[in-house]
Amino acid sequence: MHIAERMKTLGTETAFLVLAKARALEAQGKSIVHLEIGEPDFDTPANIKAAAKKGLDEGFTHYGPAPGLPELRKTIADYTGRMLGIPCRSEQIVVTPGGKPIMFFAILACIDQGDEVIYPNPGFPIYESVINFVGAKAVPLELREEKGFRFDIDDLAKLITPKTRMLFINSPQNPTGGILTRDDLEQIAKLAVKHNMMVLSDEIYSRILYDGFQHTSIATFSGMVERTIILDGFSKTYAMTGWRLGWGVMPEPLVPYVSQLQINCTSCTTSFNQIAGVEALTGSQKEVERMVAEFKLRRDVIVDGLNAIPGVRCHKPLGAFYVFPNITGTGRNSRELADVLLNEAGVACLSGTAFGAHGEGYLRFSYANSVENIRLALDRIRKVLS
Ligand code: PLP
Repeated sequence: MHIAERMKTLGTETAFLVLAKARALEAQGKSIVHLEIGEPDFDTPANIKAAAKKGLDEGFTHYGPAPGLPELRKTIADYTGRMLGIPCRSEQIVVTPGGKPIMFFAILACIDQGDEVIYPNPGFPIYESVINFVGAKAVPLELREEKGFRFDIDDLAKLITPKTRMLFINSPQNPTGGILTRDDLEQIAKLAVKHNMMVLSDEIYSRILYDGFQHTSIATFSGMVERTIILDGFSKTYAMTGWRLGWGVMPEPLVPYVSQLQINCTSCTTSFNQIAGVEALTGSQKEVERMVAEFKLRRDVIVDGLNAIPGVRCHKPLGAFYVFPNITGTGRNSRELADVLLNEAGVACLSGTAFGAHGEGYLRFSYANSVENIRLALDRIRKVLS
């Protein structure tokens, strides 16, 4: 079969490959603790499931408008205004099957071959993948452990050239759990305005924050609404990964192009899911609070446990549900150690290099698993490393 040349430029998410390997080991009878996949282990709250069932019964089983059902677009615009403190209109919203398509659609709609796009490294692997796929140049921006996995604004300034068209930021961040401060965002915004850059701000973990840290969107700074695409969604906040429901908030002139991409691709997002989305954003948020409190407990267990293992140093993250421990003190490289942990300890995690070259020397653990399983994984890691 002929496979198109362009497929060589497309990357992937290693988490799904490691999950498949771990499942194969389980099928052979091995016990595996899953700390590789980035999804909440909680069930979707009951009120959201009930709303989807009602949506089905009420006939939301047909195609809907490409940018989303008017009631959900309005709900998301109100939610954005409320959460971020900026005016937001329904006309700025496109609802998509998960937040991920927003990355693809934004790049397809705004980036030409030869343009440069700066992205965080280590970072979500799909950023680099989609930039390469359209023939643009993916320019890595190093995140620094000593800065709590923020980047240095001077590093960013040095990477900007006349060809730079877009910057990806992600806070709270996957894979490090790091956050960008208000001051960082203000400085990034100034650079974006000065150099006429667009910013794709991936805010999918904005509700999963600890220790009183407050989320700020880069869109709130002067001159940014007209150059920011916010990616957000239901997957992480409401434990709805399998529903495939997310959205983008973008400058209004971009909406027809993103809608056109959606028409070419999926026509629209599942209609009854969108009814559930309205309930998620307007109904009780108690379950979200409960999940975040539980994540915080797990964060503390895994950070303390990892720091007690010789050769491992783990920064305490302020958001998301990942830790990114430095493992250089173990004398092994990231790939090798991730393989050893899977095959010898029965702990599935990801090599830091699954998130880019600057991930060497680190592992990523997702702590979306029970405290009991996290403690079991820590015992197993300790045994293998001693
Ligand atoms: N952005 C980041 C940083 C993520 O980690 C993920 C999922 O892992 C996504 C976006 C995509 O989420 P969704 O399930 O809504 O497509």
